[in-house]
Amino acid sequence: MKTITPFQAMLKQLDTAAGEARLDPAIHAALRQPMRTLIASIPIKTCSGELQVFTAYRCQYNNALGPTKGGIRYNPNVDLDEVEALAGWMTWKCAALGLPYGGAKGGVQCDPKALGAREVESISRGYVRAMAEWIGPDEDIPAPDMNTNEQTMAWMMDEYSKIEGKLVPGVVTGKPVSLQGSHGRKSATGRGGMFTTLKACAAFRMKPSGSTVAVQGFGNVGSFAAQLLHDKRCKVVAVSDSRGGAYNPKGLDPYKVAEHKEKTGSVLGFKGAKDITNKDLLELKCDVLVPAALENQITRENAGNVRARMVVELANGPTTPDADRVLHEKGIPVVPDILANAGGVTVSYFEWLQNRVGEYWGEDEVNCRLKQKMENAFDAVLRVSKQREIPMRTAAYYIALKRIEEAMLMRGS
Ligand code: GLU
Repeated sequence: MKTITPFQAMLKQLDTAAGEARLDPAIHAALRQPMRTLIASIPIKTCSGELQVFTAYRCQYNNALGPTKGGIRYNPNVDLDEVEALAGWMTWKCAALGLPYGGAKGGVQCDPKALGAREVESISRGYVRAMAEWIGPDEDIPAPDMNTNEQTMAWMMDEYSKIEGKLVPGVVTGKPVSLQGSHGRKSATGRGGMFTTLKACAAFRMKPSGSTVAVQGFGNVGSFAAQLLHDKRCKVVAVSDSRGGAYNPKGLDPYKVAEHKEKTGSVLGFKGAKDITNKDLLELKCDVLVPAALENQITRENAGNVRARMVVELANGPTTPDADRVLHEKGIPVVPDILANAGGVTVSYFEWLQNRVGEYWGEDEVNCRLKQKMENAFDAVLRVSKQREIPMRTAAYYIALKRIEEAMLMRGS
């Protein structure tokens, strides 16, 4: 059986919410397609002196609310469908949070683990040269995503600044603090996920202290989320990376797991824990399941086996629409990606603001403002979900689509 593609899944979610929100049909039709996508080839000279060409994408999905915003990922599976889906999700995410941004996403089809640092730098600079006319602080602002980080953003900012002949820090976010990045940006998606999880616990009558959490994915998002939830006395019973997971029903110390992964390259083989597969992790009995890796993880095939009491999506698109229906029928609430993982883009917005004004905030201030934004957005989504008796995903889309619709109608065209 063919699984649904990320773009098809995103469209299904959009269509469901458009019906619920009685969206203007012309606006709905416009939102079913990305505004524009650029596909470029990036030739680089490898360490061995050969020429190698990589395919790069940047989709700017919709810019009704402001300049488009979204990360760039480096992964062998990156393709047009995935980038356009992720750009759509960024559009709904920024709108749901009330940020003055449209949505975008980029990607390069490459395996960064098989490349040297110089090659990754060449790809990053080549990406900016290919996209320079399309990006900018008032047009489209990239950021980190899977397998990209502060260093990638530093190269990209540097390359763009060379093209412009002046320093343009606001062209990307997620920069190192030493290059006008924001305090708190690195941990922001995980921290936002922690705030959201605590709010969801209160909403669904669970005590965070002692509640068991399983986190799929131990990259920048999953590792911070696990550590911050651990700090809040949640019991993190399982974590995983692309190779597999570690499980201990008595609880793991995610800080120690991070040290272990640093040393060995994986969470597998962590002392006192049982090695499990990613599939096992999704089906563990626990209070909170946190998918924080890739799309299409909870599907029609395994949704029936999910035994968590709630799902908090820190990945983009981890649950397919079929799986959503199964979870809904089982009474398992899903806190959707476009709400739960919005901490990253929210602090990206703070970074962009700081760059524009030239004034810099301390980490406490960033975290405090992040908490407020995430909690307000959560409350608004929960309110609509209760009032209209719809899942939180449809409620988050409802809020986002209403904002985008109003902006599009007011702008006219
Ligand atoms: N890549 C992150 C996301 O999926 C952050 C995007 C940004 O900061 O612009 O939300």
